[in-house]
Amino acid sequence: AQERYASIRDTPAETKCGTRISLTMNAGLMADLPSLESSGAEGVGLFRTELQFLIRNKMPTRTELKQIYSHVLDNAGGKRVVFRTLDIGSDKVLSYMKPAEEPNPALGWRAIRVGLDKPGVMRMQLQALIRAANGRPLTVMFPFVAQYDEYRAAKAELARTLERERILGHILPEKIELGAMLETPSLAFAPKAFFEEVEFLSIGGNDLKQFFFAADRENERVRRRYDTLNVSFLTFLQRIVERCEETNTPLSFCGEDAGRPLEAVCLAAMGLRALSMRPASIGPVKSLLLRVDLTALREVIEEAAARGEQSVRRAVLDHLRNTSA
Ligand code: PEP
Ligand code: MG
Repeated sequence: AQERYASIRDTPAETKCGTRISLTMNAGLMADLPSLESSGAEGVGLFRTELQFLIRNKMPTRTELKQIYSHVLDNAGGKRVVFRTLDIGSDKVLSYMKPAEEPNPALGWRAIRVGLDKPGVMRMQLQALIRAANGRPLTVMFPFVAQYDEYRAAKAELARTLERERILGHILPEKIELGAMLETPSLAFAPKAFFEEVEFLSIGGNDLKQFFFAADRENERVRRRYDTLNVSFLTFLQRIVERCEETNTPLSFCGEDAGRPLEAVCLAAMGLRALSMRPASIGPVKSLLLRVDLTALREVIEEAAARGEQSVRRAVLDHLRNTSA
């Protein structure tokens, strides 16, 4: 199988019905970078910047961060890298920051909420990103945005930072692409103006699913209880895809499910055209995508839903077996 994946490394992920799916990788550590070449990823769809904060025992300096980001961009050699700003709190606790004592950390003071309330670290991170880009294009994504205002406030923070950097004489990025993660159900129902304003959205399926089913992703008792291929969840994803289509907003999916072949082809059947996953998943996901007809698969999904099945997994598996995909 490894050899088969190697042989399709440079093959674009185009389904049997001719739909092109963009496959990118998730990263966060320097050790991930060689995979950009070896996996055939088209870019980094999610760079989890908090990992650089989590592996240290003290806060990294702006200079250290700049060096890291610059190294990432050098290694990417022009491929797009989506830098997600710091996503801490909940399951990601920094040893050198006093943990907030919260009854429900997953629903608590985390990610963009911390970034907006205490903007010092986010500002430093944005400066480091701007300086690392050093005139090259830069892509930034804010995590855990639950409502339009949070995106607007974070965007304003970036604008202020850019202005300060300009005054300080730093070269600004040739262009900045700014987006948000869609990982709270509320954001799926944000005003149309939000969808028009963001330059792209990426579904954080891990968090989105935990909030959709109210099932803690860290709790072994409940985390596998609800299937991603549950009809309610797929219908919800379909609604997000439609809203993005209405406003021409580029949409991707970067949760762990994107790296599971069966889930990935179902996401594609629901209209997703960009998936970001761990590098080792790119081969297996692409291999199945190449063999699948999304129109037929979409029908199978809709028929299973119409029969009242709770999950379409069984039906999709049978279909793939029958069509020897
Ligand atoms: C997600 O929530 O799906 C996601 C990609 O972010 P993280 O797993 O880092 O929370
Ligand atoms: Mg998340």
